[in-house]
Amino acid sequence: MLSRDDVFGELGIGPAWRLRETSGAVVARPVGAWTWDRLADAVAHCTACKLSTTRTQGVLGVGDRDADWLIIGEAPGADEDRMGEPFVGQAGKLLDAMLAAIGIARGDNVYITNVLKSRPPGNRNPELDEVAACRPYLLAQIELIQPKLILVLGRVAAQSLLDTDEAIGHLRGRVHQFQNVPLVVTYHPAYLLRNLRDKARAWEDLCLARRTMRQL
Ligand code: URA
Repeated sequence: MLSRDDVFGELGIGPAWRLRETSGAVVARPVGAWTWDRLADAVAHCTACKLSTTRTQGVLGVGDRDADWLIIGEAPGADEDRMGEPFVGQAGKLLDAMLAAIGIARGDNVYITNVLKSRPPGNRNPELDEVAACRPYLLAQIELIQPKLILVLGRVAAQSLLDTDEAIGHLRGRVHQFQNVPLVVTYHPAYLLRNLRDKARAWEDLCLARRTMRQL
């Protein structure tokens, strides 16, 4: 567990779906209640988009399945593709520090996942058809977890969830709603590793998220 000083040092601031076979491809569609076992199996065997031909494994998510907090990133990177868990690389270390700064430890009342469950080759941005193919899985996770608050990391995830092309600078700093769940946007930890000055803004976003959660 990171100490408070480590954390502030890091921050630089003092509907239900199930699978169907269609001509060989496994796709997701709404037909009945998901269970976690079905969902894990579906993601592991999903061939709904071209990323299934290049990924090592589908990365469903990690953490407390009854969590109040749901964290949504963009897509697995190389480390996550290898390990089968979201945010295990450098960006993940910073994410853990960001969460610790507001009193959250990975696995304890927080579930972490991505918009895409498969790694885009070379870590390129997700394409629209890939986001659409993966969306049923994310919706199923939200349905199963019933989080009290969603924290979205980065422009790509925020724009896709909020169905907008607004810049992240406009999306952060306020509380949105996603299917009646309060949703707060902040910068992606990988971006923050390259743009240290925005860590202060990320801290403001985390405080907004914590404040919103406390008021629920
Ligand atoms: N970046 C993401 O958006 N998700 C991960 O799981 C890792 C890096």
